[in-house]
Amino acid sequence: MSPDFADELSPLEADIRRRIKAAGPMPVAEFMQICLSDPQHGYYATRDPLGASGDFTTAPEVSQMFGELIGLWMAAVWKQMGAPENVRVIELGPGRGTLMKDALRAAKVMPDFLAAAVVHLVDISGPLRARQEATLASVTVPKFWHASLDEVPAGPSIVIANEFFDALPVNQAVKQDGGWHTRVVRLDEHDLLEFGVAPEPIPQFERLLPPRVRDAKDGEIFEWRSDRAALELARRIVRDKGAALVIDYGHAASDVGDTLQAVGGHAFAEPLSAPGTVDLTAHVDFEALVRTAESMGAACFGPIEQSELLRNLGIETRAHTLKANADRIKAREIDNALARLVGRSQKGMGSLFKAVAVTHRSLGVPPAFSA
Ligand code: SAH
Repeated sequence: MSPDFADELSPLEADIRRRIKAAGPMPVAEFMQICLSDPQHGYYATRDPLGASGDFTTAPEVSQMFGELIGLWMAAVWKQMGAPENVRVIELGPGRGTLMKDALRAAKVMPDFLAAAVVHLVDISGPLRARQEATLASVTVPKFWHASLDEVPAGPSIVIANEFFDALPVNQAVKQDGGWHTRVVRLDEHDLLEFGVAPEPIPQFERLLPPRVRDAKDGEIFEWRSDRAALELARRIVRDKGAALVIDYGHAASDVGDTLQAVGGHAFAEPLSAPGTVDLTAHVDFEALVRTAESMGAACFGPIEQSELLRNLGIETRAHTLKANADRIKAREIDNALARLVGRSQKGMGSLFKAVAVTHRSLGVPPAFSA
């Protein structure tokens, strides 16, 4: 596309070009932040990206079993917390509200927990919030919506975050001539967006890197996120007593690699193409997340693979029970969903997705994890 066609650009691309012209190349994290969360034209402000007709499918959308098992996890953790009379059940980035709906239905086996629960949903997306309201309309547990975790009132808390952290902006640095340089989005000679590298190295950067990454070769990329979200989560768990379950795709140990990916209509896309209209995510660095939470005084368990989490919570038994009441077609769907959630091949989510529990030190080992 030539600049003559500038009036055909997505509104966000026009805005990003303007910003780069005014202020110079933009770090990848800033680009990702604008694409996903611009309040007017950002990806999450303008659409429901989930499901068959959207861009991607998440575990709770694959099967009711996922949310149900997490509901049982929450109820068991509430007991470990000493069964407080009021507990905030918080979900970060609840998508269509499916996980929470399935979780609360399964938790009916523990009515005392449901009587103590107040649900707090944290999301920036208008369209998804409307979807969550519809999904949870018949749920009688009190529900509140917030734009950020710090808006949720203090008090004993159980926090769930499935595919939330991967959507937070990621910084990238490229190793070049022995130094680390910020990876940026800039304009080429035709005013089109392209990746580039800041000319000056980031001062003192090497010292902040995990030892494995310090030996990286020239051209390799290191990614990191602001620790704000992880700090806030851990602070709440430590201050108010509670536990969090973070499930996402990513790596157990910090390492080099460019994992920034764009997805639209269930297919990979170019990260710089049509800003605001494709989903942008990057792997979660679980080692970094755990280090941040532990630095706040929280206890951390895992990461374990999603396959292990779900198996330990009893997904096979649950699938068996559901199949006992299903016709042949439905039974095959249950088998397929089980394979997708715990399968460790490329098509399965079982090993790419991992889980970490962040808990108050007094709680002991949370269900599905080991000491
Ligand atoms: N947990 C859901 C949805 C995952 S998609 C599921 O498993 O199906 C990511 C979710 O995080 C969306 O609901 C999106 O609106 C929300 N989100 C993305 N960035 C956010 C931010 N900075 N603050 C709050 N919510 C955010």
